[in-house]
Amino acid sequence: MLSALRSLLLLVALASSAFAEEAQTAISTKQVENLSHQVNSGISAAIRFMRISLKPRLDGKIVLIDAGHGGQDAGACRLGIREKDITLRLAKQLKQVFEERGATVYLTRHTDKDLELEQICQIVDKIKPHVFLSLHVNSSPGQETKVSGLQTFFRTDHSRMLAHTVHSSVVGRGICEDRRVFSGHLWVLRSPTVPSLLIESGYINCRFDRKRLLDSRYRLKLCDGIADGVTLYWQKKGFLRKKRP
Ligand SMILES: [Zn+2]
Repeated sequence: MLSALRSLLLLVALASSAFAEEAQTAISTKQVENLSHQVNSGISAAIRFMRISLKPRLDGKIVLIDAGHGGQDAGACRLGIREKDITLRLAKQLKQVFEERGATVYLTRHTDKDLELEQICQIVDKIKPHVFLSLHVNSSPGQETKVSGLQTFFRTDHSRMLAHTVHSSVVGRGICEDRRVFSGHLWVLRSPTVPSLLIESGYINCRFDRKRLLDSRYRLKLCDGIADGVTLYWQKKGFLRKKRP
């Protein structure tokens, strides 16, 4: 009986020491994972910093970004996902991307609030940006669709080149379907002096687009494409100072 008890105690002791060893291994594995995550993010940040430092600087340029819809106006919705939330996230990310390159950036809204179209136009008139970008999410007829991709709109001729350059810059990366550039009488693009465009960044009723628009890494690719397009437009127009050798 005593020897059985001794064996049992021995077994318990062995089991707990094995458990402790395993727990220790688990903790150190977690620590290694954390460390490797930190190293990886550090490396990605360094690579991003190097890539940005090779891009033309946009100091002195003013960009106004409109996060489409807001407040009572949710825009297009599907399965609880609302256009107004995606456009705000996209606008904030795009602001950061332009700022990394030296531009001064304004947003028409920073929070979930309503803005009348007329108010947006007044902001455009007041700020007089070098470009105005209105961000939206598309929706096609029917509940769920396979139609996917980017569509760009401009209203007046002085915005045509901006619209085509930005659109080509994004779709040229092969990250989304090309749903073409259109001219349309969109009120928000009515400024006669500020080159303005409206980007429909994907379809909310397409599962593929919806999923990626919720992914900040995809949105960053979209933002890089838009910022590269605007930069190229300014270069074509001769609006950017050449880098000193
Ligand atoms: Zn919209």
